[in-house]
Amino acid sequence: MNIIFLGPPGAGKGTQAERLSKDLNVPQISTGDIFRAALSQGTELGLEAKKYMDAGELVPDELVVRIVEERLRENDCKGGFILDGFPRSTFQAEALDRFLIEEGSGIDIVLNIDMDSEELVKRLTGRRVCRECGANYNIHYSLPETGGECDQCGGELYQRDDDNEKTIRNRLKVYGQQTEPLIDYYSGTGKMVTVDGSKKPGEVYDVIRGAVNSLGA
Ligand code: AMP
Repeated sequence: MNIIFLGPPGAGKGTQAERLSKDLNVPQISTGDIFRAALSQGTELGLEAKKYMDAGELVPDELVVRIVEERLRENDCKGGFILDGFPRSTFQAEALDRFLIEEGSGIDIVLNIDMDSEELVKRLTGRRVCRECGANYNIHYSLPETGGECDQCGGELYQRDDDNEKTIRNRLKVYGQQTEPLIDYYSGTGKMVTVDGSKKPGEVYDVIRGAVNSLGA
């Protein structure tokens, strides 16, 4: 099953995609995680992407499309994939459609997580991420039980460089200008399901799982 997660930054795409990826046993492809991993390895890709990420802007389309196509050609994607944070522009969505047509496949479902922007600012400024396993916490809603370390692996928690209020506001603006038009793009395909992201993660997941189950997964 080929799945896209759509929605503003902080709506919970990563959390939901990770859970669905484990349940369906298909890879979660997060472009943001790919760039952060490249940056922590000090590669040219990481350094190039950082310029845009720090400003809350999108990394140029051609570069992102190339990275995603390379990733989708890997063997573990043959049985399906979950895209988390891609596509983020009409250019990217059209490139993905062309790529999938060439591969003789397509998208099965687009899960659009909807959220109010002020709530997103609160969520994003409070977000803390485990440096080791990538688990997400939030100082406003879900602190780790141990206090300052990751409950899952004991790793150190940190705040992403782009989770500061100035960058967050720009990311939301960029989302409205460049990514939100994809809601119309995909609603026209009849494959989009919109989910209320303001609910608790478990409740959001139940709705997502129900939508995916109804496709026979
Ligand atoms: P995320 O982890 O999905 O919030 O992404 C963090 C940052 O990575 C974004 O603010 C962008 O700068 C960059 N990024 C991630 N995915 C894309 C994409 N599909 N297109 C352009 N830039 C992206």
